[in-house]
Order: sequence, then structure tokens, then C-alpha cells
Amino acid sequence: MKTILVLNTGSSSVKASLFCPGSDLPGNKGYERKEAYKILTAHGERLATEDSFLRISISATAADSILQADGNKKELKHVHSLQLTSRATDRQDDHDTGSDAPIIETIAINEPNMSHKTAILAIIDKVKAFRPGLIDTVTAVGHRVVHGGDKFSESIVVTDHVLREIQSVSHLAPLHNPSNLEGIRIARDLFSEKVPNVAVFDTAFHASMPRFAYTYPLPKEYSEHGIRKYGFHGTSVKYVSQVTTHILKEMNKDASRMIIAHLGNGASVTAVVDGKGVDTSMEFTPLSGLMMGTRSGTIDPSIVTYASQQMGKTPAQVISDLNKLSGLYGIAGGDNDMRIITERASNGDGDALLAIEMFVYTLSKYIAGFLVSCGGSIDALVFTAGIGEHSPLIRKLTIKKLSKLLGDMIVDKERNDNNGKFSGGIISASNSSCLAMVVPTDEEVMICKECEEFILHH
Ligand code: ADP
Repeated sequence: MKTILVLNTGSSSVKASLFCPGSDLPGNKGYERKEAYKILTAHGERLATEDSFLRISISATAADSILQADGNKKELKHVHSLQLTSRATDRQDDHDTGSDAPIIETIAINEPNMSHKTAILAIIDKVKAFRPGLIDTVTAVGHRVVHGGDKFSESIVVTDHVLREIQSVSHLAPLHNPSNLEGIRIARDLFSEKVPNVAVFDTAFHASMPRFAYTYPLPKEYSEHGIRKYGFHGTSVKYVSQVTTHILKEMNKDASRMIIAHLGNGASVTAVVDGKGVDTSMEFTPLSGLMMGTRSGTIDPSIVTYASQQMGKTPAQVISDLNKLSGLYGIAGGDNDMRIITERASNGDGDALLAIEMFVYTLSKYIAGFLVSCGGSIDALVFTAGIGEHSPLIRKLTIKKLSKLLGDMIVDKERNDNNGKFSGGIISASNSSCLAMVVPTDEEVMICKECEEFILHH
């Protein structure tokens, strides 16, 4: 048996998933994909603070199949007898495992000042305790790396040289790359040299953007300093575009041109043609493009110097405001959770209403603009991530604004209200020529898949 460990090490968080590969993803039954082989997920947050915690969940189906495959019924019984915690049944856990399989065990560790290393070690200890020998089946460790600069257009096995190369572009993502690198270093220390560490870059999917799309109209010296459009959320977009292609092909529909709206706390829109990214709204940093949870998205750059002068702030303080106090949060007056903003708007709150109107307007403008990048029309408009997957209101309002441009696309109320769950992800009415869809993203699965490809083909 082989397993793949996927690590997403953020500045104050760590997410880990242990997969049993062989799952034919993303063709794993398209929209109704079942991550039956996701054995374990873990999620540590607020690391290196007083409130740090770690939650580890094990999925029953995966545990069953693995243990049965090895004929170790005794251990299976042991695993089943582990006590369920109350948290094991909550929605977040379903989200964590990305699996319909019931979770048989959830472990919560609340320990102040847990470091990344302590958290990762605790996860590995849990894997060891869950099934002796399981940790030795890890054949690759996949890592999310936010920025590959213009050096990495695809995933790569980490060597000392690659590590230095990633470091050399870290100034482009100072909040993310250093902690991603920390995760790689910890994994390299913990596993033998025979276990490759594979770096999977958020920027890589967008490396196919044409030069006219990624170049800024600035003097040449700027591009010589690496100032260009890179794009982010690439791992998510790649996964969603592959699942979407699978679904459309099963329906005998064209799947060559699509626009994917990844709407989480960070949000971006990407135009995809023939499986390749051709333009995207997040540009040089994740601050640009759409209005987001706390980020402004694209604004007139002169505002930075003007606000500095007028408001007695340094440019760095203004940029911090644009990152942390703007977007939905700035407009809705302190809320960046779309659920709360929607609730407030439904009670007539003017600020919340404005935040929603602005969010939808900006999103629609980007989608309309990217029709050009797709040659004038698309086969599918796809919504994903927290807001994209769960907000019928935002999808409905966006599609309404774009209806004329998208071949008179109409939302099917029931399908949309059910987040496409009972209609194979489709939320548009059946007579719409261009489909509107909801396709849940899973970056960890995509990273696992990239590792599988390395194991199989390199
Ligand atoms: P991140 O970028 O942090 O990964 P997520 O993809 O988890 O973000 O998305 C977080 C966003 O999803 C939040 O703004 C949250 O309000 C929104 N969201 C989650 N569930 C719902 C829902 N049922 N309705 C509307 N918005 C939702």
C-alpha cells in the first residue's frame, strides 16, 4: 500500500491530509466524487499563539478499506471502538475530510504555543498510533507553495537547489512562502531521502497566460524586477477545471472554455481555455482583482500615496488597510463573513446591502471581461470555494447581471438553492446554452494528484 501526505503550511496554520492513492481523481465520479481514500485530515490553527489548537479526523470508509485490504480485522475493531467526539459530526468536519464517509475519530489538541513542527509531529504520531506501519507507506509528501515566481510553471520535486530557488522568489509572497518552506524543511527532516517532497505552486496554473495578459504597461525595468501578473488559487482552479471538464464530457458537451470564480475569503476569477489558464484577476499579489473578504481588490494605485499624505499613514500602513480592513469588511462595517452580511442585508441593513451589490458588480465585470479572454463565449461559468459553493444569493445576482452576455443564461431556483447538489453541479435552467455550475474545490486532492503523477511518471 502507498500513501501520500499533503501539507499546507500557512503562516499560523497547518492543514494535512493523508491519502491512499489509486483514486482516479478528478474523474472520481465527477461532481459526486468520493474521497474514499482520504484516510486522515488534520487542521491546526493559531499556531505559535496562546490559542493554538489542532484537530485530527479519521474517515471510516478509508480506514475500513485499508485495514480490510490488509486483512487486519482486529485493528479495524479497535478503530471502530474509538469514541466519537461531539465535533466529529459537525459540518466543518465533513468539509475537512471532503468525504461522505463518516468520521470515526476526531482528536482535538488544545495546547498553547504549538509550533508548526509540534503540530506536524503530533499529526505523524497520530498516524503511527492509528495503524502501526502506516507512516512507512508514505511515498511522497506534497506541499502547497503559494508563489513560484516565474521560475516554476509546474510542480517539482524539492532538492536543495529547488529549495533555494523557492527562497529566491519568497519576497514576492512574504506572508506565505516562508511558512510553506518551513513545512518542506520539517518534512525533509522527518522522512527519509527516498520520500520525495513535491512542491505544488498556486501560481503554476497561470504560467500559460499569454505575455500580453501578464505584462503590465510599465517601463521595462519593472518587469526586470519581476513585476508582472502571476495569478493565485491555481491549484484550486486546476482541480475545478478538471472536474468541470469531466462533468461536461460525460454530458457530451463542449468543455473547452470556462470561467471559474473561486470565491472564498480571498477571491479570484480565472479564464480557462483548453485546460490552461489564459487570464486571472489576482495579479502581482493576492491583493488585486475582485473585492474580497478583507482585501480591497484592484483600486487606483494613486490612492496609496494620496491617502498616506492626507491621512498621515505610511504607504505600508495603507497597504495593510487594503489587505486587512477593506473589501466586504470595510464596506459592511466589520463583517467579512458572507453569511452574516447576507443575513444583515435581508434585514434591510444598508451597509450590508451595499457590500453585496459591490461584490456582485465587481465579480460580474471581471467575468464579462474574461469572456474576451475566452474568445467571446464560454461553455460553463463555475462557482467554487466558500461563497461560490454555498451562497445561492451571490450566484443568482451575478448570473442575473451576466445573463444577456451568457446566452440568456437563467438560474434554476431549486438547483441553485441546493448548491447544485442534486443536479450534478448544474444550477442553470436546462435550456441555457452556457451552463452555470457549482463545483466544490479541493486543493489537497489536487496536490495529491500531482504527487501521484510524479510517482508514476518520473
Ligand atoms: P478561504 O479563502 O479562507 O479558504 P473559504 O473558501 O473557506 O475561504 O470561504 C470563506 C467564505 O465563505 C466566508 O466569507 C464565508 O462567509 C463564506 N461562506 C461559507 N458558507 C457560506 C454560506 N452558507 N453562505 C454564504 N457564504 C458562506
